[in-house]
Amino acid sequence: MMPKTVLVTGGAGYIGSHACVELLNAGYELSVLDNFSNSEPEMLTRVKQITNRSFKTFNADLRDEKALNDLFAASRIDAVIHFAALKAVGESVLHPLKYYETNVTGTINLLKAMQKADCCKIVFSSSATVYGLNNPSPYLEDYPLNAVNPYGSTKVMAERILLDLAASDPMWSIVLLRYFNPIGAHPSGLIGEKPSGIPNNIMPYITAVASGRLPELKIFGGDYQTADGTGVRDYIHVVDIAKGHLAALEYAFLHTGAEAFNLGTGKGTSVLELVHAFEKASGRSIPYKITSRRQGDLAAYYADTNKANLHLGWQAQHSLINMCKDAWRFEQLGHWL
Ligand code: NAD
Ligand code: UDP
Repeated sequence: MMPKTVLVTGGAGYIGSHACVELLNAGYELSVLDNFSNSEPEMLTRVKQITNRSFKTFNADLRDEKALNDLFAASRIDAVIHFAALKAVGESVLHPLKYYETNVTGTINLLKAMQKADCCKIVFSSSATVYGLNNPSPYLEDYPLNAVNPYGSTKVMAERILLDLAASDPMWSIVLLRYFNPIGAHPSGLIGEKPSGIPNNIMPYITAVASGRLPELKIFGGDYQTADGTGVRDYIHVVDIAKGHLAALEYAFLHTGAEAFNLGTGKGTSVLELVHAFEKASGRSIPYKITSRRQGDLAAYYADTNKANLHLGWQAQHSLINMCKDAWRFEQLGHWL
């Protein structure tokens, strides 16, 4: 049988590049679309280096309908994994239109191009942020959705659009993956999370402190109602997230309709526990100061993973120590190459 070809949008980004590695290793043919607004083409070179495989790259923007139509006209695409989006919560509050344009209009453009080309299988990057403020942990997929910032709204809206599309035409296979907190890097140390400027997310901040690029970690809040007072999240190794996409893709090839799945470990970890695990994994000490809470942060949440386990046959494998070791390896090696 001919190998299937998957279009990966945002394939040069943090999660997309790890998914590309898993897809290539599993024998899929790939096409990658990225405008490199938050990534470097070098990451795709490294994906090729890790897998010893090659693929086509389209330097194109989701907002460019013609470019999308041309891409589908030029090659046969069996399914799409749609990572490309803007993801900074604070920036989305300041520039909501930019976020709606890329994350919502960009997704509509992609779906229209797929429809024209009779390509009707898509795995979509959603987020635990769609569960909003009022749902108790562990989060279940059938909870009501309730976004609390423009970034979250773009994910809730895109999910809604995808559900409506599936309801309109039984040909569609749509998998919504709600990621919890991806951290870590590929064990090769060649690809990982490399935000530009001062990191917003905790792990790239910790690795920058560990290597001396930043002086100390500010822990946002020590007075939450959690075991040690710091915020609790469900951290998951990015390679486990990437493997979740492989499972979701296989599910999409076998099922029609639309289904949402959490990708998490099901286990909550506090900021202090994460810092101590990182210190153990790296042998470095992480100076920190407990400061005021960050606006909009929840005290604690983590995933219920039963649905993904049952229907995708997927479960996170990597420990917190592994996540820290791999993040530290990337900081020491890949970050600088
Ligand atoms: P990332 O920024 O590293 O990757 C996104 C990629 O999309 C980048 O390579 C960027 O250049 C590209 N891109 C952005 N706008 C584009 C456009 N208009 N046209 C073409 N390409 C464009 O982000 P990531 O962490 O890999 O996240 C991937 C997806 O997962 C996003 O949809 C994000 O919202 C979602 N997500 C991420 C997290 C997380 O913690 N990293 C959590 C939940 C959900
Ligand atoms: N956090 C922190 N200092 C930082 C960045 C994050 O204490 O510099 C905390 C944050 O309050 C939350 C956890 O780390 O409890 C994870 O934050 P991140 O921004 O990585 O993910 P999010 O909370 O947005 O899912």
